[in-house]
Amino acid sequence: MALEKREKRPPVTPMMIEEEAALRNGSRGLPPGPWAEAAGPRPRTTERHIAVHKRLVLGFAVSILALLAVTMIAVLLSVRFEECGAAADGPPRAGGNGTLSGVARQPPGAGQPLGRPEEEARGGEAAEEEEEEEEEWQRRRELPPWARPRLPRHLRPLHYNLMLSAFMENFTFSGEVNVQLEVRNASRYIVLHAHRMHIEAVRVAEDKLAGGVRVARTFFYPQTQVFVVVLNRSLEVQRSYNLKIIYNALIENELLGFFRSSYVLHGERRFLGVTQFSPTHARKAFPCFDEPIYKATFKISIRHQATYLSLSNMPVETSVFEEDGWVTDHFSQTPLMSTYYLAWAVCNFTYRETVTKSGVVVRLYARPDAIRRGSGDYALNITRRLIEFYEDYFKVPYSLPKLDLLAVPKHPYAAMENWGLSVFVEQRILLDPSISSILYLLDVTMVIVHELCHQWFGDLVTPVWWEDVWLKEGFAHYFEFIGTDYLYPGWNMEKQRFLTDVLHEVMLLDGLASSHPVSQEVQQASDIDRVFDWIAYKKGAALIRMLASFMGHSVFQMGLQDYLTIHKYGNAARNDLWNTLSKALKRVGKSVNIQEVMDQWTLQMGYPVITILGNETTDNIIVISQERFVYDSDTKPKDPARGDSSYLWQIPLTIAVGNTSHISSEAIIWVSNKSEHHRIPALEEASWLLGNVNQTGYFRVNYDIRNWKLLINQLTRNHEVISVSNRAGLIDDAFNLARAGYLPQNIPLEIMRYLSEEKDFLPWHAASRALYPLDKLLDRTENYNIFNEYILRQVASMYLKLGWPTNNLNKSLVQASYQHEELRREVIMLACSFGNKHCHQQAATLISDWISSNRNRIPLNVRDIVYCTGVSLMDEDVWEFIWMKFHSTTAVSEKKILLEALTCSDDRNLLNRLLNLSLNSEVVLDQDAIDVIIHVARNPHGRDLAWKFFREKWKILNARYGEALFMNSKLVSGVTEFLNTEGELRELKNFIKSYEGGAAVSFSRAVETVEANVRWQRLYKEELFQWLRKSLTQ
Ligand SMILES: [Zn+2]
Repeated sequence: MALEKREKRPPVTPMMIEEEAALRNGSRGLPPGPWAEAAGPRPRTTERHIAVHKRLVLGFAVSILALLAVTMIAVLLSVRFEECGAAADGPPRAGGNGTLSGVARQPPGAGQPLGRPEEEARGGEAAEEEEEEEEEWQRRRELPPWARPRLPRHLRPLHYNLMLSAFMENFTFSGEVNVQLEVRNASRYIVLHAHRMHIEAVRVAEDKLAGGVRVARTFFYPQTQVFVVVLNRSLEVQRSYNLKIIYNALIENELLGFFRSSYVLHGERRFLGVTQFSPTHARKAFPCFDEPIYKATFKISIRHQATYLSLSNMPVETSVFEEDGWVTDHFSQTPLMSTYYLAWAVCNFTYRETVTKSGVVVRLYARPDAIRRGSGDYALNITRRLIEFYEDYFKVPYSLPKLDLLAVPKHPYAAMENWGLSVFVEQRILLDPSISSILYLLDVTMVIVHELCHQWFGDLVTPVWWEDVWLKEGFAHYFEFIGTDYLYPGWNMEKQRFLTDVLHEVMLLDGLASSHPVSQEVQQASDIDRVFDWIAYKKGAALIRMLASFMGHSVFQMGLQDYLTIHKYGNAARNDLWNTLSKALKRVGKSVNIQEVMDQWTLQMGYPVITILGNETTDNIIVISQERFVYDSDTKPKDPARGDSSYLWQIPLTIAVGNTSHISSEAIIWVSNKSEHHRIPALEEASWLLGNVNQTGYFRVNYDIRNWKLLINQLTRNHEVISVSNRAGLIDDAFNLARAGYLPQNIPLEIMRYLSEEKDFLPWHAASRALYPLDKLLDRTENYNIFNEYILRQVASMYLKLGWPTNNLNKSLVQASYQHEELRREVIMLACSFGNKHCHQQAATLISDWISSNRNRIPLNVRDIVYCTGVSLMDEDVWEFIWMKFHSTTAVSEKKILLEALTCSDDRNLLNRLLNLSLNSEVVLDQDAIDVIIHVARNPHGRDLAWKFFREKWKILNARYGEALFMNSKLVSGVTEFLNTEGELRELKNFIKSYEGGAAVSFSRAVETVEANVRWQRLYKEELFQWLRKSLTQ
């Protein structure tokens, strides 16, 4: 699953709205529509029954005899087919006499408070029985099986037959599911997930004997989202039974489960229905054992009007047309798979297709106009190549005969890797080369690489439980870089961009005392969303990269091949991976206990800072120590019983020794103690030490001041002796060590000085990102101009050298010019945002040209910078012009940067106007409103406005985004992370006090961040300014 694009990125001032390609943030979810609205009409039961069984009815004349016979046999074998005659509106009957099941009804307006289930809907007798039963469990001091957070393990589903009818005209559907069950332990209860549906009939039959098992009663238990079938006798061990459930539900307006979405074609609104089951929403579309461990095979049939087509994980085997314009598609049976990867869609899209070398049919389905324009061709083409790449890399063929990519107008995530039917939100898969920047292309590419990796890591081999969601998400995120390198070998994604976009990014988060381990315990369904966060994705990916480098990439690859081969069609936990990788290492004669090493990294939160002291050595001995890195050392550790001092890691440290012209790399030194002595050969008087070669490790490195000075000297004299990734690493480490108080404030600024000679993109990018938090700490201070002046001086000469791009960029979009264009963009962004006069002039000229000619000739790759600079420098007319363009454009990527540009204004009235408009769904899409508020907060002129707006509208915002945890935490951190005065900290704490519950994790992170900001101001601000003053007068 790819989360939405990450918003937090370093435009050094609000003028810069840098699109950061690889960062897809967890803006999880659009707000659910109000429940009331979703409670539409349901199909009349009788009508639907006729429809579902129409073909049976057609043979009425012939079957009347058969029917009699069947009835006789049924009576003889005591088959009790339970039906809820009273149907949708009457109270279900309790199954007191054993013939009819008590069929529970959970109204599809079930936003009901989670209370006792269905109390009033059941007859008194059933309620009594239930009470007795609960007392019985209490006596046993056990929770009843339906009240436990996980499903009881006495049953296992082997196969599901699922027959659905989709009624697009009133957004309802009906279904019949037949589950073949294997009994592991005898029990009277069948407990499975079902949520927000109306169940009409339930039958349990023993497979072999075709005999029925009487259903005593059934009920929903909403607290755990389960449906319970209580039987009159126990199911017997090692026998297999068939559970049949007939139900109906809504095609929701909320973007989870089986939901609807729409688009406009030729002035006409068209609807589609599509599913999103991960992590716990399959239970909203059919009753099932909705935990990843319950893998089963599925055979799906979908009945729909013939004006639509239907899609699912597998290809259609047969389609049966009916006279009344309906058709039923029967799909082939799936391999063993988890419920959350099941998917289907009912739409009237068209497609283009391609076939891989191994014969996999790949289709891209989208709205007909997009297909006609060829907007899906790029995705289709790279998908074919990527399947071939993964098949070769993993040595495991793609498992299904086809893969459909479905581009939908609305989706709660950027994309979802359903097996054989992956779903993407349009702006993450459709691409029109004539208006797309490099970053947009990169973004689309990486989402596709990510989802395709999941076809192996996720779909084929599935984590046992959600605590290890990082296993699949960490791999998919890591492979975004490996797969993109395969498509564009010159881009060096894994060696370079990974550092800034993943490693540096997540170390910011994980350096807070309120972080959490990458493996997180989860029980309740409601907690599961919480584990899909940046720590799982980015720290997961960073740990995997560290593992790959200390194992060696070819051994790592072999290990992955074994892991996938051993566990295919099954589930695996992290220890399964560690064992397989340890064995692969053993085969090449190396012995590392990977589980022991990795447990420290996955079960402990945070990461270490290594300090290397070399200047007091005798006999080439250096001292290496480790401690947990935290930004605010005053904050108490989250777990007071532990204390920070007990955090230890086994660290694969590499050290290079260098002098002005030469660098030598040493083998890995495993550091596992608080402090260790190591001998380093060839350590001369003037040589420097550099730890964590190419920043493959997930930690920071600090040195004694003498060594820092030697490194700075090296960078100034000949920076190319040190690798590109190490240059970026030194910059990021220095800025963050200084921010946390481990290092004097001048060191990072001294390092920056060499940048005037730096021709590579990555170190500039690292510097620009690292400057961002510092800039936000200073941008409202009296002496800000001293800082501003210093940065401008560092940027000036490179800005002159590189100049501005021309508009012909796209012809070379995917060629090696990527690095150069990205560098130019980065430098222009720094120049314009710190006030380089030429840059401002250039931006103003381009905007004026656009307004006067009404032709947008602004180069694609810098449009966002130009728009933002124009809005901030020029008068209100420009703001109105951009506002008008925002309304008139239909291109998604363009719309977004126009909206963000509006937040760059210096005019507080305009900013207020924009904030107020942001909550109007007619004007600003719900998912974009948060971006507006966050971007206003980044603008020093708007920070207090956004902060005030956030507090005043919190109730509305929380109601809108509260369920989407990612969205909410993005908003909370986006609005608060730049607060840095005692007064603002007080405001924040008071606000949290006055607000009850919810978003607690985001708020504790916010308090910690602001406390660290305040502390930095108090302790280090003056030191920094003193050094800057001195430096500027020299
Ligand atoms: Zn994913």
